[in-house]
Amino acid sequence: MSLTNIIGQSKTIAMLLGMMRRGRIASSYLFCGESGIGKKTAAINFAKALNCLDRGRETDTRGSGPDRFDSCDSCASCRKIDAGGHPDFLAVAPEDRVIKIEEIRLIEDALSYKPFEGRWKVVIIDEAEAMNISAANAFLKTLEEPPPDSVIILVTSKPGALPDTIRSRCSRVNFFPLPNEACRRVLGDRYQGDDLDLAVTLSMGRPGAAHTNDLREERDWFLEHFRNMLKAGKDGWTSREDMDRWFDQALIMVRDLATLKIAGPGRMINLDIQDYLRELSKSLDLDVIIYLYGELNLLKGQLLYNLNKSITWNYTASLLRKELLH
Ligand SMILES: [Zn+2]
Repeated sequence: MSLTNIIGQSKTIAMLLGMMRRGRIASSYLFCGESGIGKKTAAINFAKALNCLDRGRETDTRGSGPDRFDSCDSCASCRKIDAGGHPDFLAVAPEDRVIKIEEIRLIEDALSYKPFEGRWKVVIIDEAEAMNISAANAFLKTLEEPPPDSVIILVTSKPGALPDTIRSRCSRVNFFPLPNEACRRVLGDRYQGDDLDLAVTLSMGRPGAAHTNDLREERDWFLEHFRNMLKAGKDGWTSREDMDRWFDQALIMVRDLATLKIAGPGRMINLDIQDYLRELSKSLDLDVIIYLYGELNLLKGQLLYNLNKSITWNYTASLLRKELLH
């Protein structure tokens, strides 16, 4: 893959290629946008394009014209970056949801040498908002005095969770959810017919989400716990990740309840369970649904600050029972 092969982000990709064409490479970037829309893929392919040994081959696959600043996707450098084995390329991601200072030290170390083979040393920090305070402080020093010939790409779906001091030192590059048609093209290699329709709808412009988890399975997993909550069942989440997944789905479902009230089923996401949701929404006023959405959204936001799992389960369950069961 190369930058021009990325589906549904053509403006952003054109901007990245334009910066390369003008030789205006910033020392640090912040790739922002929801998860599952191609930010990390773009970051890796940006690193490939920066260091490609054979730029300039025709890369036209979708009528965008050859771009001699894109990667060739086949030279030794491109292949090494794809395989994670390029000496001038480092990708860091959270372990147990945290990026610790040790990871930042690795980055400092990697950036302290001149490039071995490439033009640029490139570091990608995925889910950069997961840096803890000491990691963020240490990292700030690197950002303030960027080593020459280095490019740091922070990838995040929650830019607001990064300290201002870090955000303000990066060139921001925004990515957006994909239009349905682009989503369909991405998901078409995995789903067909009705399954494809459902995957496109459930992914809400984030086809990466449909690639990593089966979305219907994910939704059904959520529903099982949701019903369990309504029956005052015990904490069923096994990890913080579970909590995150559950709240993502809960917000989609509550939004569907509102959509049913306002616009009917046409614009729902969970179309295939509309009978169940209609039953649920029947006795609810719109303002109660909006209140619920706000409360769940608040809880989800607070997950960043280490909410206790079983307390959150019990609190959420009692909130849902109070508002949904009469
Ligand atoms: Zn190449």
